[in-house]
Amino acid sequence: MPPALALRQRGRVSVALLWFVVLPGCAPAAPADDSGTILPPEPLVGEVSAAASAEGASQVPGVSVAYDITSASSLTVVVTKLRPLEPVSYIPADLLTLRGVPGGDSQRMRAQAATAMARMSRDATAAGVPFRISTAYRSFGLQQYLHTREVRRLGTAEADRRVARPGHSEHQTGLAADIYDVPTNELSQSFGESAAGTWVRDNAYAYGFIVSYPDGVEAVTGYFYEPWHVRYVGEKVAGDMRNTGIETLQEYFDIEASPGYE
Ligand SMILES: [Zn+2]
Repeated sequence: MPPALALRQRGRVSVALLWFVVLPGCAPAAPADDSGTILPPEPLVGEVSAAASAEGASQVPGVSVAYDITSASSLTVVVTKLRPLEPVSYIPADLLTLRGVPGGDSQRMRAQAATAMARMSRDATAAGVPFRISTAYRSFGLQQYLHTREVRRLGTAEADRRVARPGHSEHQTGLAADIYDVPTNELSQSFGESAAGTWVRDNAYAYGFIVSYPDGVEAVTGYFYEPWHVRYVGEKVAGDMRNTGIETLQEYFDIEASPGYE
């Protein structure tokens, strides 16, 4: 199945069921961190207008950037209740252990996400607001176990608000992690108001991360507020979302909301 293509130009998105998502050259300024050390080569496959993601692209009217939101290995893949990974058993090829990140010794993320997470963790710690990794990459099998456990505990409807079904989890992409603040040591919505949670919400974009499931948008994402769940999308997309105030990947790429499974 070919990946989807959405074209975003001058703030409007038209989705064509072709290959890539194209975002505008008129994007606001790049995120604060322009050190260049971790700059991700955004779409991994078939980048259409790579130059548009470079600095200064905002001065080029009509220039667009392509994003692959469908290939499981794309850094901008969008995985929702209506968009399972293809294949559902997908395993990332470049998982790295999050050594040096508190809680990360037994957790893995894809290489670029892991490097960005290490930087974000180091800077959060330096700012006096350390956080720990709870879980990062989860295999199809682990996700199946977690979802089944929640279904037994809470019933299907409530479990589906909290844990993705296997093949539908951002954790399976190797690009997502659940984090919690060290003083509290628990994964809860209070993380959003904690020192670390506030720092992450305000600064994650500079490292290429977003908070996937913000408060008040369950009708779009299908998940309740998860301030602890961060997802790597690359600095360009994260910075653009920050600057435009768009909170979810679904709204950013103008694709369907996923309040529930089909
Ligand atoms: Zn999560």
